[in-house]
Amino acid sequence: MRLGLLGVRGSTPAPGPEFVRYGGHTSCVAVGHDGEPPTLILDAGTGLRSLPSLLGDHPFAGAILLGHLHWDHTMGLPFSRAVDNPAAEVDLWIPAQGDTLAILERWMAPPHFPITPRQLRGTWNFGGLEEGTHQISGFEVLAREIPHKGGRTFGYRVSDARSAVAYLSDHCPTVLGPGEMGLGELHPAAMALADGVDLLIHDAQYLDEELAARADFGHSCAGYAVALGEAARAKRVLLFHHDPPRTDPEIDALAARYVDAAVPVEAARQGSVIDLP
Ligand SMILES: [Zn+2]
Ligand SMILES: [Zn+2]
Repeated sequence: MRLGLLGVRGSTPAPGPEFVRYGGHTSCVAVGHDGEPPTLILDAGTGLRSLPSLLGDHPFAGAILLGHLHWDHTMGLPFSRAVDNPAAEVDLWIPAQGDTLAILERWMAPPHFPITPRQLRGTWNFGGLEEGTHQISGFEVLAREIPHKGGRTFGYRVSDARSAVAYLSDHCPTVLGPGEMGLGELHPAAMALADGVDLLIHDAQYLDEELAARADFGHSCAGYAVALGEAARAKRVLLFHHDPPRTDPEIDALAARYVDAAVPVEAARQGSVIDLP
């Protein structure tokens, strides 16, 4: 399995020279089978604009899975020439919540936006995904509902015959209680998603000391991401969904806090490609 990190920023794009190393595009991770172009996209933040770089400029054929429908996870949808393309073939899945197209059109339709999802070029199917295990683009995908703020939110575990990655981009485990460390509950859905994965990609929007003041915004702190990785025996943790004002040196410093963690921890960097074993 090969992952392309196309966008790693949370909440809103972050342009500017102080953000160039980790990148300013919002959440988007491309997943492909070994040696093949990506066929599964996790979230459609502005990072989706860079998808053509992984496809040799060919149109996308595969599935886009949205963890939830906040702007920073959908904004790239109409702006990527790989998916808004007459030859594209896209299955778009969102956490089930009634009429999928009607839900999407609450965001993407005049007067909020010039076109509706139906007017994207190419062949599109729109569907609502329920919790559970699904076969999508040749991957096994486990979808579990996780606490966030403002709309049904899924974390995903994507696996093939050899490796597995967990993706919890936006996660507010303090909703379920403080947990042992006071950083949020290590609840069953998060543990099931992250159990033994080769890579845990997890919301790390806040420093641990920022959590109390900002808990109401619906995100995790980095210490929780690391604690979950350790408790679930993940092999590697990638701190993701960086706070928009967090500069490159500040993200370096955040990752450096965890050099002695029981699990290897890195900060997600836009443009990196990760091959799972
Ligand atoms: Zn987000
Ligand atoms: Zn969100």
